Amino acid sequence: MRRPVTLVTGGSRGIGAATCVRLAADGHDLVLGYVRDRAAAEATAEAVRAAGARCLTVRADTSVEADVERLFDRAAEGVGPVTGLVNNAGVTGPLGPLAGARTEDLRRVVEVNLLGYLLCCRRAARDMTATGGGAIVNLSSAAATLGSPGDYVHYAATKAATDALTVGLAKELGPSGIRVNAVAPGIIETDMHAAMGDPDRPARAAASIPLGRPGAPGEIAAAVAWLLSPDASYTTGTVLRVSGGR
Ligand code: NAP
Repeated sequence: MRRPVTLVTGGSRGIGAATCVRLAADGHDLVLGYVRDRAAAEATAEAVRAAGARCLTVRADTSVEADVERLFDRAAEGVGPVTGLVNNAGVTGPLGPLAGARTEDLRRVVEVNLLGYLLCCRRAARDMTATGGGAIVNLSSAAATLGSPGDYVHYAATKAATDALTVGLAKELGPSGIRVNAVAPGIIETDMHAAMGDPDRPARAAASIPLGRPGAPGEIAAAVAWLLSPDASYTTGTVLRVSGGR
């Protein structure tokens, strides 16, 4: 049987990196997208190869159409037709109420988290329809239903849009043999919190999480891996919340 070829956007660090390593252990070959941190991308790719999988790294800004097209073209040429897409590359911008947010930060969050996901889903829909099927997992967030007041309602809005995209696209692509699901993490220990200006946020939030701690990237990777696996063959259009009860 052919090995699955899975493209993970934002595979260099955090949840995306853990997902690449987990999928390699599960028998996938990987295409790892990143935008800025080449050293992190290469370090994750080495870990993937150490697990016996092929791994191609491609620098591509998912909010840019030409970059997304090149990312999928390079994947097909270098590793083979993509059978799985993990739409993971995401940003929040600085923390704070909407009233104080800068337009450029709002635009960037919408462009990466929503337009980027749409561009990648569109290309995957075209390619997977041509090859007879596949699976897509979109990284959403518990913020989609919590709303994240005072922190980033704009980010929460893009994640609610991700849930709608997941439900609609699952119905659109089901007849083509393509499953579309989402994972909605709670607060996970990654660089994202430092990037939004609050590295201690996960530790501080522990008291408000029913399981009493933030999650680890590998705990999200496990959910993504299940949704991509044959064990999830009848699962589509679902948003799997992995949030410690939050
Ligand atoms: P992270 O540690 O900040 O890593 C972000 C990743 O996305 C990096 O690999 C980064 O590449 C890449 N990236 C950012 N902008 C990009 C762009 N325009 N084009 C291509 N790649 C881009 O993030 P994370 O915490 O692992 O989050 C991953 C996903 O999970 C996101 O969609 C996020 O919204 C979601 N999520 C996270 C949490 C959490 O608590 N951490 C909770 C809920 C949902 P470089 O390394 O090149 O910069």
